Amino acid sequence: MKPAPRWPLHPSPKEGEALSSWLNRVAVCYQMDMLDLLEHDLGHGQVDDLDTAPPMSLLTALSQRSGIELDRLRDMSFAGWVPWLLDSFDDRLPAALETYAFQFLVLLPKRNRKTRSITGWRAWLPSQSIDRACPLCLNDPANQAVLLAWKLPLMLSCPLHGCWLESYWGVPGRFLGWENADAAPRTASGAIAAMDRRTWQALTMGYVELPCRRIHVGLWFRLLRTLLDELNTPLSQCEAHAGYIRHVWEGCGHPLRAGQSLWRPYEILDPAVQLQMLEAAATAIDLIESKVLSPRGEQATLFVSEPQTGFSNGLPVVERKKEPANHWQEAVKAINDAVAEARHNPETARSLFALASYGRRDPAALEQLRATFAKEGIPPEFLSHYVPDGPFACLRQNDGLSDKF
Ligand SMILES: [Zn+2]
Repeated sequence: MKPAPRWPLHPSPKEGEALSSWLNRVAVCYQMDMLDLLEHDLGHGQVDDLDTAPPMSLLTALSQRSGIELDRLRDMSFAGWVPWLLDSFDDRLPAALETYAFQFLVLLPKRNRKTRSITGWRAWLPSQSIDRACPLCLNDPANQAVLLAWKLPLMLSCPLHGCWLESYWGVPGRFLGWENADAAPRTASGAIAAMDRRTWQALTMGYVELPCRRIHVGLWFRLLRTLLDELNTPLSQCEAHAGYIRHVWEGCGHPLRAGQSLWRPYEILDPAVQLQMLEAAATAIDLIESKVLSPRGEQATLFVSEPQTGFSNGLPVVERKKEPANHWQEAVKAINDAVAEARHNPETARSLFALASYGRRDPAALEQLRATFAKEGIPPEFLSHYVPDGPFACLRQNDGLSDKF
């Protein structure tokens, strides 16, 4: 069988461009409609799957026509982003949402919630198509590529120009209209531009530089998706941490949970709601990085740079693994130090006795405590007068410390 002839004209795909966008630009070279090019030249009558999961037969034909490698063409559709952006393309996995969106914690230290088992769900793929693009990109005849990421509720701004993506209709390069035709391009806030720069770095480099360390592209998208869901958590489920969620929403100026009262997965929310949620996610990251918020979620520390300690020898700082703080161990050590000092310092002995006797008013119990102190080598005359109540009564409830007294 003769190989299919090369197209004499075909523009190169731009970095991150959607397959449909590139095919449209090829068709414009021949003053054709993309549908006609697909049907009559490539024998492919279906257009819905171009940016999601184009059939291998079509990709092979496109590779023959253009000389572009098959893998590169496949990366221009969402199927090429498995497993980095999505775990799987199979939407019949009931645990898919749990695995993807509830594995990590940023704003909340734990989630008090029902396990969500949803079929027909795929990460990031919206229930209705999104036509948003950068007005500066599409108005430039030399740069009319629509990025694949813009077809998802994933970014708010153009990685090249830093302005908001706007809704459009029509076909770039042929006929194009903007929903808000008179509006000048709007510069995205620093928080939004920073979040989108990271998403772009993830898509193009395979990693993201965070203040704490470099993370893998797969982790970035899951962190982002985690944040979006945390921001949509009913406050009644957030317990003492509801303040973090409220603070973020107040910071971005949208109603709490973008006005949602019922929980639904992010992918099926109204597009306008999704945009507000994304804005809240950008705000949350900004607040954590600037240390205005210090939420207790395990992965929140990724957004905070470790304090630089020790001296500098002029060479780059070598990353050291920080030992997690063990507050109880530190407290036990402090008590032991205090006991040692109390053996020769009446002031310390009395403070320590006040601490240990907090809440104990029963004379027998106090006598027993004196005996314990004496056994520890603290002279009884140091405790001739003391305050029976003091702070930190809770310390005694910890095993190991109560034995001491
Ligand atoms: Zn642009």
